Amino acid sequence: MYVWFHRRDLRTTDMRLFDKLRSLHMPGIHILVLDPALLDECRAREHSGRHFLQQVSRLQQNYQQANQHLVIAYGSPDQVLLLLAANYPLQIVAFHEDLTPYAKQRDQTLIDTAQACGLKTITDIDHMLIDADSFDHFANRDQPYKVFTPFYNKWKQAMHLFAEPPMLTSLNDLETVQVSPSTIQDFSIPLWLYDALQSTSPSFSEEEPQKKLQNFLAEKLPDYERGRDRYGWSHTSQMSGYINTGAISIRQVYEQVAAQDKSSYVDSWVRQLAWRDFYLYQALRNPDYFSYEQKFDWSGFNTDAFNYWAEAKTGIPIIDAAMTQLKETGAMPNRLRMVTAMFLTKQLLCPFFYGEAYFRDKLADYDHVLNRGGWLWSSSLGYDAAPYFRVMNPVRQSETYDPSGSYIRQWLPQIAHLSDKAIHQPQANAIVDLKQARIRAIEQYSLLLKQNKQQNK
Ligand SMILES: Cc1cc2nc3c(=O)[nH]c(=O)nc-3n(C[C@H](O)[C@H](O)[C@H](O)COP(=O)(O)OP(=O)(O)OC[C@H]3O[C@@H](n4cnc5c(N)ncnc54)[C@H](O)[C@@H]3O)c2cc1C
Repeated sequence: MYVWFHRRDLRTTDMRLFDKLRSLHMPGIHILVLDPALLDECRAREHSGRHFLQQVSRLQQNYQQANQHLVIAYGSPDQVLLLLAANYPLQIVAFHEDLTPYAKQRDQTLIDTAQACGLKTITDIDHMLIDADSFDHFANRDQPYKVFTPFYNKWKQAMHLFAEPPMLTSLNDLETVQVSPSTIQDFSIPLWLYDALQSTSPSFSEEEPQKKLQNFLAEKLPDYERGRDRYGWSHTSQMSGYINTGAISIRQVYEQVAAQDKSSYVDSWVRQLAWRDFYLYQALRNPDYFSYEQKFDWSGFNTDAFNYWAEAKTGIPIIDAAMTQLKETGAMPNRLRMVTAMFLTKQLLCPFFYGEAYFRDKLADYDHVLNRGGWLWSSSLGYDAAPYFRVMNPVRQSETYDPSGSYIRQWLPQIAHLSDKAIHQPQANAIVDLKQARIRAIEQYSLLLKQNKQQNK
């Protein structure tokens, strides 16, 4: 018998390791262990936790509809494995790997525990379009790509030649075993989590990730290139939350977009999928990716204005509108993520990891690697980041990408009466002078990066 641990792959089709599980010709326990280190009661109430739990509910429904069994437990995965190994004739443990430091440590503990129990482990990475090792080999590189454009050019070639089609095995090709609740009692989900799952359960009328993708490709993709940054138009796919939780597989997403007629708007969307792979690639290849906060001297920075930013009280309309949308809905368009992140880290000189942590709770589509990538880019750190002297002016950004101010009017109704010109301008209570702040930011980031260079000499 095998045990399959669901991770950020909350679906039942196109699972890389399901093909391998089928070839074992044995029954299996399918389990999703919700980990207290990642999901506590507070997190479950935030947009990021709620969206995740909604996908968990959907997964439960998928198992029920297929007349298959899924165990949902709450605890430490290695402890759950020990319990299962003591009660079932297990031979194999299988799961898809994740790339964050916590996940790697957790996976290693699980592998060690499996070994101690005499079990074989099968793992693989499921959520990237390229396989990083094969890709570097194909590109003939002994050093990783550090700049997006050459990475992207090679990535396109690799995808053209070797894009992996969706996997054929689905849940119905496997035989899942029912685990009695009394066996798993020590790891049963607490009441608050049970309630949270009930309250986030998606209704049948709600769009399935597949349908949402098809609608986007049919209706919005042709306007994507033109409308991507026009955040007032809402012309992007809004697929990120489904892709990040694995509610839809990235191979299926790619296959469907690649089947569209060739055009610049298709390329433009595929390019975003390449950005996603580029950040995941960095998480694998850049040894500093998860530790920039420890590598720099942040003494010239402060958190004085953090609460104004988080509470949407900076007096800069586009910043306050975007932060209001985030707080109320868990969503924020990509351009405004860049603008608000740069505003916090540059104009307000707050270390990036404070903003990163805030987005972690609030973003419904939160993903550790991609969120970190966005924050590193905005604060001029990491591979191929914005240059240190790039300081986006939120007023100019607002005037350029939403000239009529419709987005600000939607999220800040208290200033909706202002003219198209006035609506973008800093309010009387603005906490910062944008000109001064820009000069200060360039000085401070130049110093930060210089100090770091000297340290590394
Ligand atoms: C500070 C900051 C924080 C971010 N945090 C996250 C996060 O936690 N989770 C997350 O999924 N994305 C994050 N992003 C990237 C990007 O903002 C979102 O992926 C995008 O807004 C999702 O909307 P969409 O699905 O409509 O994207 P679309 O424009 O339709 O793009 C299609 C897909 O491509 C990928 N993608 C698009 N833009 C990017 C990008 N800039 N970087 C990497 N992948 C991209 C996503 O998977 C997205 O679903 C962050 C960006 C910044 C600047």
